[in-house]
Amino acid sequence: ISINGVYKSFGLYENKVDALKNINIEIAQGEFLALCGPSGSGKSTLLNILSGIDKPSEGYVLFLNKLLRDLPETDLATIRSKHLGFIFQFFNLIPVLNAFDNVFYPLVLNGHFDAKSARERSLHFLDSVGLADLRDRKPGQLSGGQQQRVAIARALAHEPQVVVADEPTGNLDQATGEAVLDLLLKINQQTGTTFIISTHSTQLKERAQRVVEIRDGELAYDSAQ
Ligand code: ADP
Ligand code: ADP
Repeated sequence: ISINGVYKSFGLYENKVDALKNINIEIAQGEFLALCGPSGSGKSTLLNILSGIDKPSEGYVLFLNKLLRDLPETDLATIRSKHLGFIFQFFNLIPVLNAFDNVFYPLVLNGHFDAKSARERSLHFLDSVGLADLRDRKPGQLSGGQQQRVAIARALAHEPQVVVADEPTGNLDQATGEAVLDLLLKINQQTGTTFIISTHSTQLKERAQRVVEIRDGELAYDSAQ
């Protein structure tokens, strides 16, 4: 992923907010990158832009050598469903579906897997996050850490090259957050999946291979530079 001279503004005139100013970052396959910075510094905006959910006001992003700016929405949707996995602070599980179905349905609905292989993948990835035994439980019957593990299985089940996580430990206590972080690091090492993770957490900063910090929309620090 190559982020080149990216600016992003929201609103107009006196309401204008410059959320990102001249961001340049190169991210190689297999990196485990912690994106740090205070609340409102532009982390979510940057994650949305590098994953093609939002467009920069200026500058451009290459994702797997494709210029996102020139792709129609259908191609962007295909990139998201094939090559990207998302993990969120509040898990974003579907409350009426059990853990298995929360992993299974997105896989089937994204159109790249038939029901049989989607079933096998769902079981495999729930097992790999240690939740195979709890697959019949709905999110409300799982702890926060367990819900986030379901969300991780869902993010990984289509074996994306890149996983983007927005504050994945932000709603978990210290110990549970640490365990979720262990799991993400293990997956990164075992599979070479790229992880880009926004965080307030110092534990993640200490353990990430690379730390990038943004402040007030500007790149303030990049441990790779
Ligand atoms: P962070 O993720 O670091 O907390 P954000 O990327 O969410 O920061 O926000 C960066 C800045 O952009 C903030 O000032 C925020 O209020 C503003 N912003 C983000 N999204 C929007 C939006 N859709 N409309 C207007 N302002 C926005
Ligand atoms: P974690 O290690 O994820 O923090 P907890 O210590 O919170 O887990 O949960 C311990 C056990 O209690 C788990 O087996 C979980 O299934 C159960 N549990 C936690 N929260 C709830 C809940 N809201 N409803 C039902 N069971 C729960």
